[in-house]
Amino acid sequence: MANKIISVRNLVKNYGSFQAVKGISFDVYESEIFGLLGPNGAGKSTTLEIIETLREKTSGEVIVDGLNLDKQPGEIKKIIGVQLQTSGYYPGLNLTQLIELFCGLYNRDISPMELLEMVNLKDKARSKFKELSGGQKQRFSVATTLINQPRIIFLDEPTTGLDPQARRSLWELVKKIRERGATVIITTHYMDEAEYLCNRVAIIDSGKIVAMDSPDKLIDNLLATGFERPREMKLANLEDVFISLTGHSLREE
Ligand code: ADP
Ligand code: MG
Repeated sequence: MANKIISVRNLVKNYGSFQAVKGISFDVYESEIFGLLGPNGAGKSTTLEIIETLREKTSGEVIVDGLNLDKQPGEIKKIIGVQLQTSGYYPGLNLTQLIELFCGLYNRDISPMELLEMVNLKDKARSKFKELSGGQKQRFSVATTLINQPRIIFLDEPTTGLDPQARRSLWELVKKIRERGATVIITTHYMDEAEYLCNRVAIIDSGKIVAMDSPDKLIDNLLATGFERPREMKLANLEDVFISLTGHSLREE
């Protein structure tokens, strides 16, 4: 495997007397897509936001690309891209102008058109953020995480609420980002998505990691216990019907 780019050791987060993250440890390797899976309230967002320098930890150690979170949070900020959940973009600006604004803030020289093309939003260059569909909004907010050319990108439930086509379109975008050499950390409630995208996943339950491996290995481990899924009689499911009837292309105009 490649180099460790993130190393988390015995991470704890208390909110008052409630312990949301209970001493978790994991590594993320360079250029992998790493999934954090777990039920609502498991501690996924808390963990991500601590690594992103947006939330204080209670205890434990976090190293990002050799930088210690306690000593060099500013340096960590420079090499990460964080997708904002509630995107507070300036309402008066169109997508091109928003990208130009971010380029100014990060002191980067990036072509807005090239970036919009990468996320399949070239036709929307002159549109305002609020005029976009749900899938387009998500793709734009992922695009904004790329402006500072980060080495690590954090995506917290980027596909929640999207239709099947928009979800697939975002999957391809995440793969593209990884192919360009970035490391991606993603949370999702969709297991098909985790299986398709992630090289490795950690499953968190009530603030503890209960399993961590590649999706394939985790499935094999379960099968080795004698688990057997009730035999599926049909070789397609309702999602296949939906995609077959409505097509793979995006419908959000
Ligand atoms: P997840 O992203 O896995 O759904 P979170 O990290 O958002 O979980 O939350 C983990 C737990 O911590 C939940 O029980 C949540 O209610 C609690 N929590 C999150 N943020 C705060 C906060 N600012 N104050 C108090 N409790 C919080
Ligand atoms: Mg969350």
